[in-house]
Amino acid sequence: MKYILALDQGTTSSRSIIYDENLKAVATVQKEFTQHFPQPGLVEHDAAEIWESILETARGAIAMAGIKPSEIASIGITNQRETVVVWDRKTGEPVHRAIVWQDRRTGDFMSALREGGKEPLVQQRTGLLLDPYFSASKIHWILREIPDGHARAASGELAAGTVDSWLIFKLTGGASHVTDVSNASRTMLMNIRTGDWDADLMALFNIPRALLPEIVSSSGNLGKAVPALLGASIPICGAIGDQQSALFGQLCTKPGLVKCTYGTGCFLLVFTGSDAISSANRLLTTVAWRIGDQPLQYAVEGSVFMGGASIQWLRDGLGIIRSAPEVNELAARVNDSGGVYLVPAFTGLGAPYWDSEARGTLLGMTRGTTSAHIARATLDGIAFQVADLVTAMEKDSGKKITTLRVDGGACASNLLMQTQADLLGCAVERPSNIESTALGAAMLAGLGAGIWPNIETLAKIRSVDRRFEPTIMARDRRARLKMWKRAVKRSQKWAS
Ligand code: ADP
Repeated sequence: MKYILALDQGTTSSRSIIYDENLKAVATVQKEFTQHFPQPGLVEHDAAEIWESILETARGAIAMAGIKPSEIASIGITNQRETVVVWDRKTGEPVHRAIVWQDRRTGDFMSALREGGKEPLVQQRTGLLLDPYFSASKIHWILREIPDGHARAASGELAAGTVDSWLIFKLTGGASHVTDVSNASRTMLMNIRTGDWDADLMALFNIPRALLPEIVSSSGNLGKAVPALLGASIPICGAIGDQQSALFGQLCTKPGLVKCTYGTGCFLLVFTGSDAISSANRLLTTVAWRIGDQPLQYAVEGSVFMGGASIQWLRDGLGIIRSAPEVNELAARVNDSGGVYLVPAFTGLGAPYWDSEARGTLLGMTRGTTSAHIARATLDGIAFQVADLVTAMEKDSGKKITTLRVDGGACASNLLMQTQADLLGCAVERPSNIESTALGAAMLAGLGAGIWPNIETLAKIRSVDRRFEPTIMARDRRARLKMWKRAVKRSQKWAS
């Protein structure tokens, strides 16, 4: 039996999973790490702690599986995207805490670029919109913050990268400074059509090429873990950003296939094959993956900031449930939300609105409104936001989506999934294994190591747990979506 070690480096925890060659998870070890919030709007991680948490969980998973390290054919990495680490190449020590994707410190810098008319260039080259979310402005900020940052970057003394790049550097004992092309596509420094760093963008953010990793495929030969770390010299054959990994893990490998991950936020991605389709509806164009020396593959992406997080708000903010799964019980006490709408714009609205000044809004309450209606409106609010993304995607492609593949913690809610099918008017399909993110990285690592000859051989490994079909009339759907639109309007530009 051959095994694969998947390293899933998320925003709040690191996980290591050992899969066998039938993609059955035989051991999982997870560890949370510290979130640093130096000021409101600022989010940092200690990159050394991230590395230690990955190493510890990887060692733990190997021990738990009861296998020899030499039986692991390949390592696959998937990671929180956009978060940046800058480190000293010689010592391997970070020169600043990692700046996390959620961090808004470079908002003014990005607004200035937008006002300076730079958005069309950036969108055309990278498929992204000017927002502090992406890596470039965070690297720019670190180089200005540390002593002689620019000079040390230009001379090659420093190295920068997203979390995949950092982990591969550490795993290979500093031998490989690389990044996978899906992660690189989220930095705002790569031309997504050529798959190379873009000179104009590096100039715009004042980031020298000498600082940046080499861009490599998501599946292939990415380096070898040094034996002292995990007990054997294990090849690293897969690396991919978390959302692209979930897309691959759901086997959305034919153009038009769509997945939505319902985690803290919700991430909808449609695979578009070798076409990089520009969105006219403020969705992002991104690299899905590149396998070996095959052509670059693309996706269009839309994200919602408050997905499962709005259920957490019911628990921690309102205190009307004690645990996330309880939302289903409470919401099921009523047949509908009784005309209540919750727009969970607590941190603004993501695609397709991109309104950072929108705020959470609860509308339509009467004397008859109960906590059950609010719970139901919360589940509806998640499904409505995803429906807005699907509508934007359908407008871009001119094609109706027929099935939505779902994963992530909140897709466990049958009520949410049924509501989603009703609001979309299409089937919602939940696989038996909803851990698509780690699965995708394991699949890419296995393909890279030659455990399976091609993607087709993986298809039989995927099985469906449940399909949710729409149960409401088109007229009702339109009426509900119209009310939702009115509610969104009320929430917009509230903080400005
Ligand atoms: P992340 O990877 O973003 O941390 P997960 O995929 O682990 O997120 O999903 C966690 C989210 O799922 C939480 O926000 C929680 O509110 C929600 N969640 C977990 N279990 C359920 C459930 N049974 N019903 C509804 N929501 C749930």
